[in-house]
Amino acid sequence: MITSAHRGIGMTSLRTRERMIERLREQGIRDERVLAAMGAVPRHIFVEEALASRAYEDTALPLGFQQTISQPYVVARMIELLLDQPSGRSLGKTLEIGAGCGYQAAVLAMLTREVYAVERIEPLLARARKNLSSLRLNYVRFKHADGNWGLAEAAPFDSIIVAAAPARVPQTLLEQLAPSGRLVLPLGNSDGAQIITLFERRADGGGFSETRFDAVRFVPLLAGVE
Ligand code: SAH
Repeated sequence: MITSAHRGIGMTSLRTRERMIERLREQGIRDERVLAAMGAVPRHIFVEEALASRAYEDTALPLGFQQTISQPYVVARMIELLLDQPSGRSLGKTLEIGAGCGYQAAVLAMLTREVYAVERIEPLLARARKNLSSLRLNYVRFKHADGNWGLAEAAPFDSIIVAAAPARVPQTLLEQLAPSGRLVLPLGNSDGAQIITLFERRADGGGFSETRFDAVRFVPLLAGVE
């Protein structure tokens, strides 16, 4: 729902959002479910007012606390990998690690009713909660915690998405995947190349397949909470 608080840049924002969706198509995003979800979330309410006019550019923007709101293409790409268009898989019960101000959580919430989002910096989590409740996406469940440990109380998950880069895949996250579940994350050191990597748990729950995709730049996945 659009309230007066969101009207800020009004029609301009709607048009620039449509342009963002066109650009995502040109960049190769094909899953219409992802494009519709990203077209429905007003990205400008998630960035600081001074940056609102740049909210629909394909770039990461500062959130404070040395963190950034992820680039639209990367959000779209990672969710598309979870959805696996050919099979028409849906997200199911989904865990996001690194909610930041909640933008990606809102996009996920357009695609599934069951979203859990973990963030280690409390003031950011408070902002995420406020942003999602202003969009009436109250069913997203937030938790202030270190996402390296997943979210045992709600596991297993059909989909897990990590918005910060660890050097190696956290074993706990793999263990919290349901059979046929998918985990997507940027893997690599913050000073070197990071690669979007997809893990899929076998249907019998046994092993995992691992596939690598685009090179990206994310903030590091840190330990502990603030
Ligand atoms: N999902 C956000 C991206 C935020 S940037 C978006 O939609 O734009 C990545 C976030 O990961 C930061 O807010 C950072 O604080 C958080 N983060 C880093 N390490 C973490 C950890 N171990 N557990 C939870 N969150 C973490």
